[in-house]
Amino acid sequence: SLTLGIVGLPNVGKSTLFNALTRNDVLAANYPFATIEPNVGVVPLPDDRLDKLAEVFHSERIVPATVSFVDIAGIVKGASEGAGLGNKFLANIREANAICQVIRVFDDPDVVHVDGQVDPSADIETINTELILADLQTLEKALPRLEKEARTKKENRPALEAVQQAKQILDGGRTLFSAQKELDTGLLRELSLLTTKPFLYVFNADEGVLTDEAKRAELTKLVAPADAVFLDAKIEAELLELDDEESVRELLESVGQPEPGLYALARAGFHTLGLQTYLTAGPKEARAWTIPQGATAPQAAGVIHTDFERGFIKAEVVSFDDLMAAGSMAAARAAGKVRMEGKDYVMADGDVVEFRFNV
Ligand code: GDP
Repeated sequence: SLTLGIVGLPNVGKSTLFNALTRNDVLAANYPFATIEPNVGVVPLPDDRLDKLAEVFHSERIVPATVSFVDIAGIVKGASEGAGLGNKFLANIREANAICQVIRVFDDPDVVHVDGQVDPSADIETINTELILADLQTLEKALPRLEKEARTKKENRPALEAVQQAKQILDGGRTLFSAQKELDTGLLRELSLLTTKPFLYVFNADEGVLTDEAKRAELTKLVAPADAVFLDAKIEAELLELDDEESVRELLESVGQPEPGLYALARAGFHTLGLQTYLTAGPKEARAWTIPQGATAPQAAGVIHTDFERGFIKAEVVSFDDLMAAGSMAAARAAGKVRMEGKDYVMADGDVVEFRFNV
């Protein structure tokens, strides 16, 4: 499954956040005998619709979609020079599908900031610079081979041109992801570059910032169009210590938050990875299935079972809202709200689906 790698400068709250993520780990909670990688947190994607589906279908259990976060330990400054843990750090990032950067915006004189002061844009710059330098090294290493290949075969030229263009973008201090409109990153895939990965930013803030709309808007703008999540990692950790809903609500209220920050983080992570869900429901379970954005009905069926994709005939689809308005599948059918979709149908968020297939 796809993963987000958590990175950030030292002392920004990565471990605090990651511990909260692993305490909220659905694998640890539901599959006590599953092998759990110590550096992976698999968290549920919050989805109220599943509770409502389970009610309508009298489902025995609810199975949410999940999002996986990997803790990428290691120093950052100088990583591209292979200093210390640098190489391991870069190799771990290479394996992640998206990058989740934790940025400190909390003030605490007792917690030292590595660069002496809290400065979100400087922190982003530091990480970007290391990744850009690492990508430049990769490109420079690949160039002689690509030049040679382009000389002997005309069809190899676009790959060389893409690398030259990428090099220019990186030399200008920009990430390749931010330049994806002008650059065909598909031609660079074999190089596993780091800055082509989508970014998500987590601002580890205290109450002052969490409730300050203007400050949040400013930080959101700083990282746009990437997703920004605001949370207080210490509070997130404390929330998971509480075992009754009332105390959870009170603690959230005390910091002016409508829901745990981990919820927003799971949603943003899912979105950043380019994923969406569709829903199925029956007496056994109400379940959210994970598909890439833009997946077709047969591809969606294939997530349940590869045979479903091969033998796909059609999908019976009703939107969640229409289903709830009707009250049952039979009522939705009678109201003409259930559509028969063929193999070219592109799945929409909130589709509740039953597949028809040959085996
Ligand atoms: P890491 O080096 O990025 O993994 O940072 P840690 O998670 O170890 O946090 C560094 C220090 O900052 C620890 O003493 C944490 O308790 C503290 N810390 C983490 N998050 C917060 C926060 O949201 N607010 C405050 N005041 N302190 C925090």
